[in-house]
Amino acid sequence: MCAKKTKKKSKSSGKAKPKAEGKSSKDAGKKKKPAKKSKSKSSEKPKAKPKSKAKPKPKTRSKPKTKAKPKTGAKAKSKSKQDSKKSAAAGRTKKPAPVSLDLSETHRRDGYSLLVMLGTGTPGPDPNRSGPSLAIVVNDQPYLVDFGPGVVRRAAAAEQQGIYGLSPHLLDTAFLTHLHSDHTAGYADLMLMPWVCGREAPLEVYGPPGLKHMTDHLVQAYVADIDQRLNGLEPASKTGHEVRAFEVQPGKVYEDHNVEVHAFEVWHGDGWTCYGYKFICPDRTIVVSGDTCKHENVIEAARGCDVLVHEVCSGEGVKWRSPEWRKYHSTYHTLGHELAEIANEAQPGLVVLTHQLHQGVSDSDLVREVRSGYSGSVVSGKDLDVF
Ligand SMILES: [Zn+2]
Ligand SMILES: [Zn+2]
Repeated sequence: MCAKKTKKKSKSSGKAKPKAEGKSSKDAGKKKKPAKKSKSKSSEKPKAKPKSKAKPKPKTRSKPKTKAKPKTGAKAKSKSKQDSKKSAAAGRTKKPAPVSLDLSETHRRDGYSLLVMLGTGTPGPDPNRSGPSLAIVVNDQPYLVDFGPGVVRRAAAAEQQGIYGLSPHLLDTAFLTHLHSDHTAGYADLMLMPWVCGREAPLEVYGPPGLKHMTDHLVQAYVADIDQRLNGLEPASKTGHEVRAFEVQPGKVYEDHNVEVHAFEVWHGDGWTCYGYKFICPDRTIVVSGDTCKHENVIEAARGCDVLVHEVCSGEGVKWRSPEWRKYHSTYHTLGHELAEIANEAQPGLVVLTHQLHQGVSDSDLVREVRSGYSGSVVSGKDLDVF
């Protein structure tokens, strides 16, 4: 494991209470941002997030979980959450097939989660792999993780393949792993294009410190566009351009009637905070590593999960890189044999490789590299694969 993680983990484990601070963009009409930190986990309140699939409405949420007061229906939501947890626990006994699903109506039944790989790329501009992004879709509500370049178009492509929940105007909730450009270069696209396509709900983004700074600057960068669309002849929603950025701490960062989301800290270089996310869906648990070295927090989060989506760098291929790049990749990322060690400890139902740093080897070589030390199900994800 990387040398820095123990220190980082220790630091984060000291923060017993996950928190989230909200921030609205500077446009008028926005609600106050939540700010207070919780005093204890028991003070966490479920956050209401009513959704309408056919007709998205402006969100009523203006607070992060730690400050939100139970709203109407919170009781039912709590029950739903309990049911979801039971279902998720039950689902962990099942092993998902290590193949991409075809999309039929049977996969759209209530409570069935879809994991859609929107972008499996890296900073390298591979035309067949968009920038890092994936979506977990439950009851036609999408939850994005990262928004690399191409995110909205890949979502539109998934919609055309039958996943209604990835219709661009429904993209209103996202979780950011870290601030690297390959994971955020689609942020402006995610802010604005779904709005142009009819999104009425403000975009809500949860992520590490620094997210609000990036959000503010991007909103400022597009002020002319926003002003023109709001005040010109376009029949644009008056709220769909708004962005609410929540800088969260490790722990439970989000909950609604579909999912419960936990952030956990990983290590991907000093000087910033990087997260992975665990999604507890009604039918299963999905863990996303984000960019990281081999990290014990990933193992802990992924223990017994149904699907582990993990970045990977070929240990065989990287041997041919320069000493400088070899050092970078082997320190900041996870080599194939290290992912095998992670999987052996965590025992996920399925490992999906993403953000593949092939280093000249093929997808099948990468899978072979992981499977040389791990006998479970492993598949190398491609854009628009669905699991
Ligand atoms: Zn990356
Ligand atoms: Zn990165």
